[in-house]
Amino acid sequence: MKIFAADIGGTSIKMCVTDENGNIVFFNEVETESKKGGPSIIQKLEDIISKYPDIDAIGISTAGQVNSEEGYIIYANDNLPNYTGTRIKDLLESKFNVPVKVENDVNAAALGEKFYGTGKEYRDFLFLTFGTGIGGAIVIDSKLHRGVTGIAGEFGHMNLYPNGIHCGCGKRGCYEQYGSTTALLREVKKIYPNCTNGRHLFEMIQGGDKRLFELLDTWTNEVALGIASLIHIFNPPCVILGGGVMEQDMSIKLVSEKVQQHIMDSYSDVKILKSQFGNKAGLYGAISLHKFS
Ligand SMILES: [Zn+2]
Repeated sequence: MKIFAADIGGTSIKMCVTDENGNIVFFNEVETESKKGGPSIIQKLEDIISKYPDIDAIGISTAGQVNSEEGYIIYANDNLPNYTGTRIKDLLESKFNVPVKVENDVNAAALGEKFYGTGKEYRDFLFLTFGTGIGGAIVIDSKLHRGVTGIAGEFGHMNLYPNGIHCGCGKRGCYEQYGSTTALLREVKKIYPNCTNGRHLFEMIQGGDKRLFELLDTWTNEVALGIASLIHIFNPPCVILGGGVMEQDMSIKLVSEKVQQHIMDSYSDVKILKSQFGNKAGLYGAISLHKFS
C-alpha cells in the first residue's frame, strides 16, 4: 500500500510518500504558515497530495485535539487559527477518494515509536514530548489509550503546584509550566537573555558552564517529579521521552537518576528511554495508522 503521510505542526508540515512496503521514498517539509489559518493548511496539503495520484491511503498526524474516529479537529489553540472543527478526513476523502486516517501528533509519535522505534519491544509504555508544552500518550496492550472523548494523556496539565505559575489552559501550577523546554529556557534567560534554544544551551553546558548545568539539573528534577507520578499510576515497563532537549543523552541520564529518587523501590525496574525518531516520530505514526490497524 502506497501511503501519503503528513505531520502538521505549528511551524512546519512534514510529509512523505511510501512505497508498497511502507518504506519512505520521498520526504519533504514546508512551512505551515499557521497564521493563515486552517483552510490554508488544508489547501497546502491538497496541492501537494495532488502530485501523487497513485497513492492508496492518507495518514495525517496533527497538532490539536483530534477525534480520530471521525477525523476532525476537536480543538486547536491560537497557534493554528480557524483550525478547530476542520473535518480533515471528510475533506481529503472526498477530494482524493482514498481512505484517510487522522491522529493527534503526540499519539501519532507514540505509535511511530511503537511500530518502528524505541517502543517496538514493549506492549505498554508512556510517551512524553517536551517542547513549548508537555504532550503525553498512553500505550496499553500495543494500543493507544484514548479516554472517553479521545483526549487522554494531557500529562502537561497535571497539577504539581497548587497556586503555582499560571498556565495557558487557565489553571495554575501545571506540570508543563515547570517541566517543558519553555520553562527551562525561561530560567536560562534570567542568566543569558540571548540563549533562546536548547542547542545553544547544551553547547554552553558542554563548554563547562556550571550555573547552566545546575539549571538543567533542577529542571530535570521537575521533569522527573511528573514522570514519577505517572509511573506510580501506570506501572509501565518504560517511559519514552521525545522533544529536542531529550535528544541529549545528558538529559535522559539526569531525568532517569531523578526518577529513581522519586519512585517507590518496587517500581525501580522502569526504564527511561530516548525517542528514536525525534521530531519525525509523528510521521512514522501517520504511516502506521494504515499499516498496523
Ligand atoms: Zn495547564
